[in-house]
Amino acid sequence: MNIKSKLFVLLTTILLISCNEKLEKVEAPSRAQTKPNFIIIFADDLGYGDLGAYGNPTIKTPNLDRMAYEGQKWTNFYAGASVCTPSRAALLTGRLPVRSGMTSNKQRVLFPDSKNGLPASEITLAEQLKTVGYKTAAIGKWHLGHKEQYLPTNHGFDYYFGIPYSNDMDMIGGLKPYWEYWKQPNDSIKTEHFNVPLFRNTEIIERPANQNTITTRYSDETVSYIKENKEEPFFVYLAHNLPHIPLFASDTFKGISERGLYGDVLEEIDDGVGKILKTLEDEGLAENSIVVFTSDNGPWLPFKLNGGSAGLLRAGKGSTWEGGMREPGIFWGPGQIKPGLITEVGSTMDLFATFSKMAGVALPEDRILDSHDLSPTLFDQEETTRKSILYYRGTEIYAARLGDFKAHFITQGVYGQFGPREEHDPPLLYNLSHDPSEQFDIADKHPDILKQIDLLIAEHKSNLVVGKDQLADRE
Ligand code: MG
Repeated sequence: MNIKSKLFVLLTTILLISCNEKLEKVEAPSRAQTKPNFIIIFADDLGYGDLGAYGNPTIKTPNLDRMAYEGQKWTNFYAGASVCTPSRAALLTGRLPVRSGMTSNKQRVLFPDSKNGLPASEITLAEQLKTVGYKTAAIGKWHLGHKEQYLPTNHGFDYYFGIPYSNDMDMIGGLKPYWEYWKQPNDSIKTEHFNVPLFRNTEIIERPANQNTITTRYSDETVSYIKENKEEPFFVYLAHNLPHIPLFASDTFKGISERGLYGDVLEEIDDGVGKILKTLEDEGLAENSIVVFTSDNGPWLPFKLNGGSAGLLRAGKGSTWEGGMREPGIFWGPGQIKPGLITEVGSTMDLFATFSKMAGVALPEDRILDSHDLSPTLFDQEETTRKSILYYRGTEIYAARLGDFKAHFITQGVYGQFGPREEHDPPLLYNLSHDPSEQFDIADKHPDILKQIDLLIAEHKSNLVVGKDQLADRE
C-alpha cells in the first residue's frame, strides 16, 4: 500500500468513526439526569378520529401533530372507562375504578348534587410524586367530587384552577328539558345558561364560569404554573372541560375551522398545546419534560355535529365498543422518548406506574394496581408488559381484550343509539389488529382464544374487591 492509499484508509476510518459517534448520539437519546417534569393534557369527549395526526381531514391540530411526529403516537391506547368520572379516577389512581368505588350501576358519573367523591384512601399520581418533591397542579375539569374534602387540593395537588365537574351540568332551571335544549342552534346556547363554578383552590372565584374563554385560560394558567415552578420538578394535570358540550370558543377561534364549532374548540385546545411546548422550550425545560395528550372517553355521538368522531372505531362515549375507550395517545419528550408509531397496548392507568418509575417513587404495595410501566416502550420502543384491557360498564365486565383479540360478553347501546343490551354466549370475538372496526365475529374459529380470555377474567376476579359505590348517593 503506497502512502496515498494508507492516507485514504486512515481518513476513511476517522470519518467512519466520527459518523458512528454521530449515529450513536442520534440513536441513544440522553436520559434525564434529574426528575422529569410531567404534563398530562386530557381532553373531554374527544374521539380517536378528531386530530390531524389520527386522520381527521379538516380539523387542524399542528401542535398535537408535531408532538406525535417528534414523539410517540400510540394507536392502541385506552381510557380507563367510557365515561368521565370513572375514567379520571382510573388515570389518577392507576386502578380500575371498580376497585375505588368510582363506578356504579346506578349513576354513571358524579353530579352537582352527588354526596361523595374519590375516597381519601386512594393514592393519586400527584400524591405519589409529592413524596419526592414535585410541585403539583390540577387545572381544568376534576369530576372526582366537588365538596371540599374531594377537591384536588385534598388529593395531592398544591394548586387547583378549574370547573369541578362537566360544563353542561348546573343548567339553569326552566330553560328546557335537558335533551330538548340541545335541539336549538349553537347561537342560542349561551355560557350563562350553565351555572358551573370556577374554583381557585377551594374558593369559587366565578359563577357562572365564562366558558367562552375557559380553554385558553386553562392553557395560560398552565404556562404560568410552569414558569413559576420551573426550579422544582412539577406535575401539571391539565384536564380541559371541552370539547364536551356545550361547545364554546374564544373570539379568536370562533369560525376559524373548516369543521365548524367543534373544530374551533379543538384548534383552540391545540393552540394551547403549542404555547405549553414553546414555554418548555423557552425555559430550557423541554429535554427534561414529558408531555402526554389523550382524552377521557370517546365522542358523545348523539350530539351529532357538536360531537366528535371515533374515526374507524365503532360507537362512542359510554359504550364498550372501541369508540368508547380507545383514544389518541401522544407522548412527547425530546431527547428522551424514542420517536415512532407504537401499536402496543397502553392505558391511561399506566401513567401512574410509568411516571412513578421515571421519578424514582416506589409503587404502593398495600393495594392492587392496574398500572404498567411503559417507560421501556417510551425510551426504547420495547414491548409493553400490558397485554390486556378490561372494558367495564359500572361494575360489570362487558368485554376483554387479550393481545389482538377482543371478546364481548355483553353489548349495550347508549343514549338511545346502538341497540339494546344483549348477552353473548359464546361471546362475540374480533381480531382488533385485522378488524379495528369490530365488524367480523370470528368466535367460532378461535375457541382457544376464548378460553384464554376466560382465564384472564377468572384471574382478575379471583382477588377483586369491589369498592363501596361512591357515585350512587345524591342529596
Ligand atoms: Mg368525558
